[in-house]
Amino acid sequence: MEYMHDYIIVGSGASGGFLAGNLHKTGADVLLIEAGKAYNKKNFPNNEMRGSAELYWGGGFEFDSEAKTAYLRSRCLGGTTIVNQALLDRFDEDVFDDWKSRTGISWMNLSDLEDSYDAIEHGMKLKTFEEKDMNNNARLFKMACEKLGYDWKFLRRGQDDCALEKGNDCIACLNGCHRDSKQSTWVTSLQNAIQNGLQVQSETEVLSVEHHADFCKVHAITPQGKIALKCRKLILAAGSFGTTQILLRSGFDKKLPALGKGFCQHPQFMFFGVFDDVVDGYKGAFQTLASGKHPFRKMGFKLEVVYAPPISAGMLLNTFGADFQAQMLHYRNMSSIEVAVRDEPDGGRLRINNKGRLIVEKHLTQQDKSRKAAGAEMLKQIFMAQGAKEILESPFFFGLHLMGGCAIGTSGNQSVVNPDFQIHDMPHILIADSSIFPSAPGINPSLSVMAFSHRLFKQLNHS
Ligand SMILES: Cc1cc2nc3c(=O)[nH]c(=O)nc-3n(C[C@H](O)[C@H](O)[C@H](O)COP(=O)(O)OP(=O)(O)OC[C@H]3O[C@@H](n4cnc5c(N)ncnc54)[C@H](O)[C@@H]3O)c2cc1C
Repeated sequence: MEYMHDYIIVGSGASGGFLAGNLHKTGADVLLIEAGKAYNKKNFPNNEMRGSAELYWGGGFEFDSEAKTAYLRSRCLGGTTIVNQALLDRFDEDVFDDWKSRTGISWMNLSDLEDSYDAIEHGMKLKTFEEKDMNNNARLFKMACEKLGYDWKFLRRGQDDCALEKGNDCIACLNGCHRDSKQSTWVTSLQNAIQNGLQVQSETEVLSVEHHADFCKVHAITPQGKIALKCRKLILAAGSFGTTQILLRSGFDKKLPALGKGFCQHPQFMFFGVFDDVVDGYKGAFQTLASGKHPFRKMGFKLEVVYAPPISAGMLLNTFGADFQAQMLHYRNMSSIEVAVRDEPDGGRLRINNKGRLIVEKHLTQQDKSRKAAGAEMLKQIFMAQGAKEILESPFFFGLHLMGGCAIGTSGNQSVVNPDFQIHDMPHILIADSSIFPSAPGINPSLSVMAFSHRLFKQLNHS
């Protein structure tokens, strides 16, 4: 008889990494499957090129069907929490009011999720940045916001001790944190669980799944060839792209008309201000400040101090040859800010082609474009108030917050997952990752992915 796991979890990021560690602690037989390789603080790639090639799907960037947007998502044990910035915010009432009306779910509110947010935050080290953590890029942003009367705030990050005073630059941990300071699921959950016997099968990509009356089957490909595995409950935590692609490859779109719809990404547009003096925006903690609530939240975008390492910065510039060389000579003299738009779900759809390859269709709606234009206008004022001698706008926009495709809800026509995180009419397949978002929150998503996964964890423990 084929072996039957209690749980198979596909994907080890914000959702899967949390669930695997915590379900394993309950004594359940859990197998965690991850497409990427396992790294640790001693062997994360130590340069930008290798980091992109080894830690990201598509060797760094994946593109939409018209090659206008570049997407970044990680492919390694710990998922995108290994490469992300770990900026962690709870969703606000604005998100939950919107989601409650879209989904019809009664628990979709701050007070019902408070204990899940509390539990996640207690399980990690958090730091809200302060004046002393700001680098020159942040100082310029704060100075300009104060001059123009714009609301700004310090960001909160999942980190322990980055030892910035010793000269560490957090930009390096876009390739994985060499100090185990950044609070990835590798640090908060997986490392310990693996030492205590959690079964992990890395370098294994799940191709499709089957739902049966009392078990699920998982078809995957390993470096040695194809395998099939069985479990009582299957948790898909492969992210918006991964989870949606697995369900599409499994042919579930015939039963689930909403599958693949409503893809959002908080489109991000990078701007650079060029100065005579050195700014060194990549130094130290490079992402410490953002615009505050008013009027930005209502206007549907946020501004954030950010920086890109040199290869990525080079790709974001709109020049070639001698002009490109001249711009890159100013790399240390640039301040950098992004506009991130709270985009509408109608503009995005995930499909597969006849080879099972993911196709991302994304266009900016009229509202998305107006929000971006309003953000860009404010940014220009900020750069001028900073005294920039030139303002550069990247011609690309990119997506780091990939959300939707398997929306949660009560209606089988408009959603894929029911309020108990089960796929409609397939109770043994559960999803609590970023694919279940019914629209873009306009707030960093990963803390809430973990909070939803905590809610699913509680539910599984009580069933
Ligand atoms: C550079 C960057 C910076 C970011 N910064 C922030 C931030 O500061 N704050 C924030 O809140 N969010 C941030 N994000 C986004 C955030 O990390 C994601 O929203 C979050 O990790 C999504 O969680 P998830 O569990 O849905 O998916 P992921 O964390 O992406 O995990 C999915 C996992 O599934 C695996 N997988 C996919 N398909 C398969 C398959 N077929 N078989 C097996 N395994 C598969 C993947 O390899 C991956 O490991 C950032 C993202 C990027 C790229």
